[in-house]
Amino acid sequence: VGEAKKNIVVIGGGITGLTTAYYLQKAAKEQELPIEVKLIEATHRLGGKIQTVRKDGFIIERGPDSFLERKKSASRLATDVGIADQLIRNATGQSYVLVKGKMYPMPGGSIMGIPTQIAPFIMTGLFSIPGKLRAAADFVLPKSKEEGDQALGLFFRRRLGDEVVENLVEPLLSGIYAGDIDQLSLMATFPQFYQVEQKYRSLILGMKKSVPSTPKSSSSEKKKGIFLTFRNGLESLVEAIEKKLEAGSVIKGVRVEKIEKTAKSQYQLSLNNQKVLVADSIVLTVPHLSVQSMMPQYSFFAPFKQMPATSVATVAMSFSEEAIQTDIEGTGFVVSRNSDYTITACTWTHKKWPHTTPKGKVLLRCYVGRAGEETVVDLSDVEIERIVLEDLNKTMNLNKKPDFTIVSRWKKSMPQYTVGHQDRMNSIQKNIQKELPGVFLAGSSFRGLGVPDCIDQGEAAVQEVLQYIKA
Ligand code: FAD
Repeated sequence: VGEAKKNIVVIGGGITGLTTAYYLQKAAKEQELPIEVKLIEATHRLGGKIQTVRKDGFIIERGPDSFLERKKSASRLATDVGIADQLIRNATGQSYVLVKGKMYPMPGGSIMGIPTQIAPFIMTGLFSIPGKLRAAADFVLPKSKEEGDQALGLFFRRRLGDEVVENLVEPLLSGIYAGDIDQLSLMATFPQFYQVEQKYRSLILGMKKSVPSTPKSSSSEKKKGIFLTFRNGLESLVEAIEKKLEAGSVIKGVRVEKIEKTAKSQYQLSLNNQKVLVADSIVLTVPHLSVQSMMPQYSFFAPFKQMPATSVATVAMSFSEEAIQTDIEGTGFVVSRNSDYTITACTWTHKKWPHTTPKGKVLLRCYVGRAGEETVVDLSDVEIERIVLEDLNKTMNLNKKPDFTIVSRWKKSMPQYTVGHQDRMNSIQKNIQKELPGVFLAGSSFRGLGVPDCIDQGEAAVQEVLQYIKA
C-alpha cells in the first residue's frame, strides 16, 4: 500500500514485444506485482513483420507464413491467448530445387541438404558423379578442429564439397536467412550440425542416427507437415495478444528516439512526439540498428552498426487455375545461386496451405532479394512483377496475367548472424548488465529469428525483468 508502481516499458510491438508485454502483465496480475507495463510501437499497427492480408477469400502473408511446430513456445502462446483451435498444419508434398535452370525433386531423406538416405542421393540428377563422390568423403573425413565459431559455408563445404553445398545446402539455408552462407555463423544458426560432427564425425551418418527413422510403409502413413499457422493467417496471433493487453497500455504511432540513464538508475525515454517517459526497466525488442541509435553514448553497442541485415521482398500472385499451363505436383521450389533467376524461392501456397486460396484459384508466393542480390527490392512493383513473371514462365508456363499481385518489401529486415555473433552478443549483454541495469534485449536481431525463437526471447526477458524488479 502506498508503494509507487514500477514502470516497465517494452519498446517495439512485433511478436517479441507483444509476447513480453503480455506475459509481464499476466505475471503482474497473477502475482499481484506493483508494476505497470507499457508497450510502445513506432508504426500504427502491431505485429511488426507478421502481417496478413485477407482479400477476396485469400489469406496472404506479407512476412512469415508459419512456424516450426517442433519449437513449442508459439503453440503455447496460442493456447494462452485462446486461439489454439485455429492452428492449422501444412499439407506435405514434393519440393524442388532449381539448379542451373533445371528443376530437380528434393532427394528423399535430405535434411537441410544433408543426405540421410543413400539411395535417393545416388539416384538424383542434382549432382555430378564427382560431386557425389566428394560428398561421400564425409564418411571418412576427420571432424573439424575448430574451437570457436566458423562460417556455415566453410563447415559444409569441408564435409560435403562445393557442389552439394551450392546445389542443395545453400539454397535451403539461405532461404531461411537470405544470407551469405560463407559469412553466417555456424554456432548462431545451426549449432546442432557442429554437435553432430563432434559426436559422430560423419555428418551423414550422424544425421541418420539422430533423426527418428521414417516408417518403412510410407504409402500407408502419409507424412505429417512440420509447420503451423492459423486459419485466418499468422496475424491472428497478433490480434489475439492485442485483445489481452490491458486497456491503455499500448502506445502506437510513437517512436522512441533516445534513452538516457538518470541519476536514480531510472531511464528517460525521449519520444518523437516531444514527450518523455520514465522507466525503471526496459525491454528493447527493436532491430539492432535501432538499439544502437537510441543509445549512441554507449560504445559497446557499436558492433550493431557493423551487423548486416538483408533486404527481401515477397511477391504474392493469384491466378485462375486455367492460367497454369504446366502444373508441377508439389509445394514449391528454392533456387540455387548458379541459376539465371531473380526469384530465390517460390511456394505454391494453394497446395501447401489449401485454406488460403478459394477453389479454382492459384496462389503463388515468391521471394526476391538475398545477400549480394538486394537491389531488386528497390524496383517498382510493376518492375518486380514483370521480373517474377518472367522467371515463373521459365518453369510453369503461365498464359495469363495475375488477377492481383501484392509486393511486400522488407528492407534491412533479415538480421545476419555472422561469424562471432554469439561472442559479440555475450559481450554486449555483459556490458548492459554493468552499465544499464534493468535494460534487456530480446528479438530477431539477437538470439534467433524464427517466430518461436522470438517468443522464447520475450519469455526470457519477462523472467529477467521480474527478477530485477523483485531484487
Ligand atoms: P519485428 O517484427 O521487426 O518488430 C519490431 C518492432 O519494433 C516493429 O514493429 C517496429 O516498427 C518497432 N520499432 C522499431 N524501432 C522502434 C522505435 N524506435 N520505437 C518504437 N518502436 C520501434 N520466421 C518464421 O518463424 N517463419 C517464417 O516463415 C518466417 N518468414 C519470414 C519472412 C520474411 C519476409 C521475413 C522478413 C521474416 C520471416 N521470419 C520467419 C522471421 C520472423 O518473421 C521475424 O524474425 C520476427 O517476426 C521478428 O519479430 P520481432 O518482434 O523480433 O521484430
